[in-house]
Amino acid sequence: MRQRLTARAVVVGDRAGTVVPDAVVDVEDGRIAWAGPAADAPPAGDAEVVALPGLLAPGLVNAHSHAPMVLFRGQGEGLPLDRWLREVMWPREARLTDDDVGVAMTAASAEMLRGGVTTSVEMYFAPERIAAAVGVTGARAVIAAPMVPLPGMPPLEEQMAAAVDLAAHAAGDGTVEYGLGPHAAYTVPLPLLRRAAELSREHGMLLHLHVAETATEGADLLAAHGLSVPSLLAAHDVLGGRVLAAHCVHLDDGDLELWAEYDVAVAHCPASNAKLASGIAPVRDMLDRGIRVGLGTDGPASNDGLDLLADVRLAAGLARLRECSATALTAAEAFWLATGGAAEAIGRPDLGQVEAGRRADLVHVDTRDLGFEPVGDDADLLTHLVWSGASRLVRDVWVGGRQVVVDGAVTTVDVAALRTEVAGRAARLAG
Ligand SMILES: [Zn+2]
Repeated sequence: MRQRLTARAVVVGDRAGTVVPDAVVDVEDGRIAWAGPAADAPPAGDAEVVALPGLLAPGLVNAHSHAPMVLFRGQGEGLPLDRWLREVMWPREARLTDDDVGVAMTAASAEMLRGGVTTSVEMYFAPERIAAAVGVTGARAVIAAPMVPLPGMPPLEEQMAAAVDLAAHAAGDGTVEYGLGPHAAYTVPLPLLRRAAELSREHGMLLHLHVAETATEGADLLAAHGLSVPSLLAAHDVLGGRVLAAHCVHLDDGDLELWAEYDVAVAHCPASNAKLASGIAPVRDMLDRGIRVGLGTDGPASNDGLDLLADVRLAAGLARLRECSATALTAAEAFWLATGGAAEAIGRPDLGQVEAGRRADLVHVDTRDLGFEPVGDDADLLTHLVWSGASRLVRDVWVGGRQVVVDGAVTTVDVAALRTEVAGRAARLAG
């Protein structure tokens, strides 16, 4: 089936911040068949034509998430990362069942779709249940199967082997992809990180880990080895291949040079870093060095939402504050970090931009709103999208050409029932 979407404008999601007014997007077999100005469009033929009273943007790509942690939203408020983990999160996670993860991911996925997020990189327990959940909601996920030495978890070697097995048996249709998610250098022994990296390269899997989230987390490793965490990872052959490092708040020039040399991508999580007072990542430095950067919400217990569009605004604001410069991160660049830039960062060039050949993951934002006035020129549509808090104006969402949000409501799941389930399970887990 062919469908033609017409819109007031298309925001492409590229680095330059291209906005195409009076635009047409043709969708066929789950892909964008054509996109551009209506004046240049090919004949519609027998396509179903849908006229949208707003702008069309690419589905947002959340580069770092532990979405099932919606079960812990708001808990541990006011604690720094180490106490938040040890006193609040880990005791709750010790009681977590696979069913909890399945329900929580379904709810979280619906929440993300509602906010225009069509793909997320997930690192959490029960990866098959995460995959099943996005199968129900209709979203996409890149699931970095966790490797974390917690009580009750199998040995790390077994967790790693299970993840590789999952990846080997995934459908390969672009909806769910598995990667390896060794938590961090301060929690997973270096020989296992090296092995995980080897396996990731061998199988073309994403290797996703946390790096330099707080100022102190690398201190023990530095004392033991005399090297920063990035240098240590390079020395142990962990870098190279498809590596995605979350946070990267506390990197010095040498670390950034290593990231550029090994083409390590960064998942920048400004809302989580702000809430937990971890610091402000040097995003301008990263981009100037050609480092790939995508924006992530991080888990909804440290954000506390999954509203990536809100984090686009925060990323721009914090980068400007960090550099004391109103051009430190432009609105176009900030939006790109959640779309085309994020797709590059996670190694998925089939996502993230409204461009012929890419998957038809599309978001319709209604511009008939006071927050979208005035529009002096087309570029204002993009700046309003970034600065005016537009996720509440997301009206329709398609994933691979299939519509999963209609007029502001997720159509694939019963949202009210999910609310009740999340509330009940969260109460049990809080103990
Ligand atoms: Zn994280």
